[in-house]
Amino acid sequence: MSSCYLETKSQYLNDVVKKTELKNQNEAEFLQAIREVLSSIEPVVVKHEEEYKKIALLERLVEPERVISFRVPWVDDKGQVQVNRGFRIQFNGSLGPYKGGLRFHPSVNQSIMKFLAFEQIFKNALTCLPIGGGKGGSDFDPKGKSDMEIMHFCQSFMNELQKHIGQDTDVPAGDIGVGAREIGYLFGQYRRIRNTYEAGVLTGKGLDYGGSLVRKEATGYGLMYFMREMLKANNIEIRNKNVIISGSGNVAIYACEKAQHMDANVIAMSDSSGCIYDKNGIKLDIIKEIKEEKRGRIKEYLNYVPNAVYYEKASNIPPIFNIKADIVLPCATQNEINLETAKVLLQNGVIAIGEGANMPCTNEAVEFFIENKVLVAPGKAANAGGVATSALEMCQNSMRYFWSFDEVDKKLEGIMINIFNQCQSAAKEYSCGNNYVAGANIAAFLKVSEAMKSQGII
Ligand code: NDP
Repeated sequence: MSSCYLETKSQYLNDVVKKTELKNQNEAEFLQAIREVLSSIEPVVVKHEEEYKKIALLERLVEPERVISFRVPWVDDKGQVQVNRGFRIQFNGSLGPYKGGLRFHPSVNQSIMKFLAFEQIFKNALTCLPIGGGKGGSDFDPKGKSDMEIMHFCQSFMNELQKHIGQDTDVPAGDIGVGAREIGYLFGQYRRIRNTYEAGVLTGKGLDYGGSLVRKEATGYGLMYFMREMLKANNIEIRNKNVIISGSGNVAIYACEKAQHMDANVIAMSDSSGCIYDKNGIKLDIIKEIKEEKRGRIKEYLNYVPNAVYYEKASNIPPIFNIKADIVLPCATQNEINLETAKVLLQNGVIAIGEGANMPCTNEAVEFFIENKVLVAPGKAANAGGVATSALEMCQNSMRYFWSFDEVDKKLEGIMINIFNQCQSAAKEYSCGNNYVAGANIAAFLKVSEAMKSQGII
């Protein structure tokens, strides 16, 4: 876990970081995200220090507009009552209704929710679509639960969540552990309680009831559009490059699909138990069958491709990151790649990292990559295709209309190219070279700070 914060030239910035650390001492992931963003906007803050200080711009930026935490009681298949904790963080609504996914995973706590919601503010700003930043979820573990248990949990979760959301207020979507099935149950319960067909209240819906084509593919496809642009800007071709992808969920699967469309060679994927290495290229249909249909483990790949290799998770370094590759796409979860892992990847010849997951690299790992000339596509820019397509889903819901797969895909590609261009221009303007991490933070911060300034002290 990253703990260091390099003092910047701005005393105001350093003071805000210190105060935020004091106020949120038990929130390691949240503080990690704060340090990462605030340290990279130094050149902007230095220019406007007095102005920002007077209106406490940064103090307001790091304080969520609203943190909602609630009890979620539900009954399991044995008749036993279970209790989980639910969250919704409405972090910053200056650009539009709060927008961000719901995560169901046992690791969920307030720190993780706040880091994700904070990241979401900047990610959403980069899409240039009118959406603010939020996030939510629960420490509920969907693994091993029956369909009925999932439904009961989702219904109880929505009984409370519905008080705080709406198509013009706050629009949740999926994230880890929340896919089309969960969104369906959540939407059904919202409709039942409110007695209104408010399609735009949730995104990631099924195609039969207001979902958008390409939403399922959007984060993974978007990641690869961004990666292609980043490589192109550095005169590198994606074709025939060896790629490893951590995770085998929604983001990982569609990143793999698009990487294969681009003639890259995806040789390994993983889940939280281990990874498979197939030197002849991952057969994605098999992964989809195991993960999307059977909800099984990645190890089962060996039942279909016996000469692939499976490495069980054994040490600190997830085994997938020991495999030699040109392009590494961490698409599972936060802090998968620490400094130690980053060193292994560099030794193995990595040239580019594409963060499909949110904050999958620690701050030290990112700094190490950048110092060693490894290109980094930062999550808040590179994985913004999911939320961008969610915003396109909201748009179609408002119009009571739908666009074809190609229309949405073209819009997604255009949005990702625009996001890359913003990162590149901001990096150039503020003398950050090809540090797209700094570029993304600066470009997004400029948008959000302007909106906050215009809307007064709120
Ligand atoms: P899924 O639940 O579909 O898949 C998550 C994958 O990551 C699974 O393979 C899971 O393995 C693995 N994983 C989860 N937690 C851990 C862990 N602690 N250690 C190792 N592996 C783990 O989630 P998504 O694909 O939707 O999300 C993945 C990442 O992408 C998250 O960081 C999410 O916030 C981010 N993201 C997602 C977007 C989306 O549109 N879905 C949009 C933008 C970002 P197992 O099954 O074994 O748990």
